[in-house]
Amino acid sequence: MKIIVNGKEAGSKETGCALCGATWGEYYEDVDGDRLFFCCDFCALEFKNMINEVKKRTGWSKIDELTINGNYYTGRTCVAKLGEKEYKFYVKFNEEGEVGIFKEV
Ligand SMILES: [Zn+2]
Repeated sequence: MKIIVNGKEAGSKETGCALCGATWGEYYEDVDGDRLFFCCDFCALEFKNMINEVKKRTGWSKIDELTINGNYYTGRTCVAKLGEKEYKFYVKFNEEGEVGIFKEV
């Protein structure tokens, strides 16, 4: 999965956390067969909850590309792509790292 966070490619130790782009920390999680880098387990939890919500709503089995803009406080406006298909959404997490607000945009 290709991931762009606030205009920069992310998802590895070199490029930054797959959700927030931070380069500190050392947490890895397998998501859809990709070993992704996260700054902490909380970001990984939020990321997985977000991916699962997208899959549930779209019926997709995977996501090719994910563009994320925003942060924890403002919420995030995202575009998920699978082949030619595009799915735009807004997501804001709650304090437990669960999907608090989810809107298709
Ligand atoms: Zn992070």
